[in-house]
Amino acid sequence: MKQCTKCGEWKEKAQFRETTQKYKGEVYVYLQSYCVSCGRIMVADYRKRNIDKVKQREKQYKIEHKEEIRIRQRSMRQGKKEILYAKAKEYRELHKDESHSRFKKWAENNKEYLRDKARKSNRVAARNYFYKMGVKYTPGLLDLKEKHIALMRGIKRLKEA
Ligand SMILES: [Zn+2]
Repeated sequence: MKQCTKCGEWKEKAQFRETTQKYKGEVYVYLQSYCVSCGRIMVADYRKRNIDKVKQREKQYKIEHKEEIRIRQRSMRQGKKEILYAKAKEYRELHKDESHSRFKKWAENNKEYLRDKARKSNRVAARNYFYKMGVKYTPGLLDLKEKHIALMRGIKRLKEA
């Protein structure tokens, strides 16, 4: 136990921050004389009284550590993204059968919509095919390619199922 010089309360040593001081070339580690909560109040108080100075220093820090800050923020974002991906994957795994049967039911009720969507998508893919090949196509040719794409996609679906 240690008594805080600010609030005067006796607190566990874990409630005091470690700090270092150099003395005759040696570095000494000791506990601060005030507790963590008093330290927080002191920092906030200092900030309030010296807001311009503090803001200026923060601005300076941002300029001097631009790259460092950017990297830190990016890795934080990356970390968050990974957590979200992992959670989404976990959810999918947990609800795999459920969402599959739900989709099946939905698809059963929206057959016409899905057929139309697939047809449109096949048509776009067929047009892209000719466009990429640089070939002029007739409506008959486009129709044929569309059927071909539908067939290939059907086979792929069967393989995946
Ligand atoms: Zn205190």
